Amino acid sequence: MSETLFSKIINREIPADIVYEDDLSLAFRDINPQAPVHLLLIPKKAIATINDLGPDDRELVGHLFVVAAKLAKEMGFDDDGYRTVMNCGANAGQTVFHLHLHLLAGKPFGWPPYTDRMKQA
Ligand code: 5GP
Repeated sequence: MSETLFSKIINREIPADIVYEDDLSLAFRDINPQAPVHLLLIPKKAIATINDLGPDDRELVGHLFVVAAKLAKEMGFDDDGYRTVMNCGANAGQTVFHLHLHLLAGKPFGWPPYTDRMKQA
């Protein structure tokens, strides 16, 4: 996979507000936050989209959610609740092709979660 913005953040080639790191993953604040807390949790392994996941990635994807739960607890929004989102491809609005889990917190979120871009046109 070619280098992406997020692989550059992993390699410290571009700066980010990193809040967590371990052998498998990195978490940092979104540059354009959509909630009072907006983190991006990424695997260090270069995987472009959900479509590119294989059986070997089961633990890695589970790990991202375990990290989400840990950060929610440490940052104190576990009880209030929060939203996790993983966009896949154009229709979901994915813009960075390195797998990432959005972790949004600090306010109530509506449901359904989307704006229908077809209707906006
Ligand atoms: P996507 O739309 O692919 O699901 O989410 C990509 C996210 O990456 C967006 O929420 C966007 O604001 C965030 N983002 C894009 N460029 C940067 C950057 O250089 N640094 C950080 N921290 N976040 C970024």
